[in-house]
Amino acid sequence: MVDVRGVHKSYGPTQVLRGVDLRVRAGEVTVVLGPSGSGKSTLLRSINHLEKVNRGWISIDGELIGYRRSGGKLYELKEKDILRQRTHIGFVFQNFNLFPHLTVIENIIEAPVSVLRRPRREAVRAAERLLARVGLADKADAHPRQLSGGQQQRVAIARALALEPKVLLFDEPTSALDPELVGEVLDVIKDLARTGTTMIIVTHEIGFAREVADTVVFMDGGVVLEQGPPDAVLDQPRHERTRAFLSKVL
Ligand code: ADP
Ligand code: MG
Repeated sequence: MVDVRGVHKSYGPTQVLRGVDLRVRAGEVTVVLGPSGSGKSTLLRSINHLEKVNRGWISIDGELIGYRRSGGKLYELKEKDILRQRTHIGFVFQNFNLFPHLTVIENIIEAPVSVLRRPRREAVRAAERLLARVGLADKADAHPRQLSGGQQQRVAIARALALEPKVLLFDEPTSALDPELVGEVLDVIKDLARTGTTMIIVTHEIGFAREVADTVVFMDGGVVLEQGPPDAVLDQPRHERTRAFLSKVL
């Protein structure tokens, strides 16, 4: 479903990604671990084409992201085609990024109505189902500021799901939350994992990684240093740097 090959990304002289390879099969959950500054967010942003990579390529469900290939060359897609591609990729941010002036239900139907041109009534019904799924059926008409951080993040997940994405990307979805609110968000993500949602999740929650991940990826210095089933990477890491990282976060 997601194929990342030889991706390099620099900001000026700073090399942030130095040849990242990653493959995620449909229905699988990949958890990305790694120290701060190792390039995890840049990788997710590249998959969503919020960043243009300097070398390598990324495809989702067989479709190149941001480019089309013709005669062995890559040509950049137009903005409207990139926006269309982005509707297949859900993104959940650390800081929720809900629209503060819209109600919960308006936040969720915004993209389905304005981007996918879904009829409003249909979008509202789908949004209500999604709200029930994240345990917030009674908050449809609330504004984000009236919700706890955990509730806001659950709305953000419902909003991402409203586009029926092929893959959901999470960038440290619980890092901005008070500790007592982390569990309710992780429970929603666990439920998505059980129902076969393809996800790439950057997190420092090791217990959660062990429970939901099909594959754990450890990034360091802009490369994937090691990857494999949770037991292998978390209990028998092959690299000293993975061991050092795990001993700090566990
Ligand atoms: P992580 O998410 O693993 O903490 P990031 O992908 O956010 O790492 O960042 C990796 C490196 O890239 C960091 O050193 C960061 O300072 C740098 N970086 C990220 N975004 C930018 C940017 N827009 N301009 C310059 N440097 C950046
Ligand atoms: Mg980050």
